Amino acid sequence: MNLAADLVNRPPADAEELAARCRTAGLVLERPTTAEDLDRARYALESWEKVVDAADEQERAALVNRMLEEAAAYPRMTDHAGSGWHLHYRDDRKPLGDVLFSLIAVGTALHLAGRGMHRLRRCAVAECDAVFADTSRTGRQRYCSQLCANRDAVRRHRARGQENEASSMYKGKSSSSVRKSITGSV
Ligand SMILES: [Zn+2]
Ligand SMILES: [Zn+2]
Repeated sequence: MNLAADLVNRPPADAEELAARCRTAGLVLERPTTAEDLDRARYALESWEKVVDAADEQERAALVNRMLEEAAAYPRMTDHAGSGWHLHYRDDRKPLGDVLFSLIAVGTALHLAGRGMHRLRRCAVAECDAVFADTSRTGRQRYCSQLCANRDAVRRHRARGQENEASSMYKGKSSSSVRKSITGSV
């Protein structure tokens, strides 16, 4: 989930970068990554962004189901990395692009079904646009990062200051004191 958000928010420039970032996220890559993998990854991320931007729960579920259908494979146990048996929702021999598609489809379905259908969205800062999976305790995370949360807090604080100024103008203050309070805040 976080890998998908990371790749959407900062798209990889080439196959090598895609491979490196998947490896960093803990994926075990068993074959060289190709331009085809990059294409397939882009397609997976495009499909996923539609899930993120779905208008309501029904549409969101339908889009996830479409991805699951396309990724369909029976789950299987594997010890491919020699680090312990675990479950894969795919064939081990698939190229990275297909692995990513399955991983994103199944990961999204588990996340939404387990934590709540609304827990996938874009940052509340209008010009940020970053996608995140909400894993907060309350499920009401609004920002992609602390940085954006701070940005918005500062902005709201400023907006409130201007409102106060505007309302004080209508309280019969002399124009010079209004001017003073305006210039004082700049
Ligand atoms: Zn594995
Ligand atoms: Zn943000």
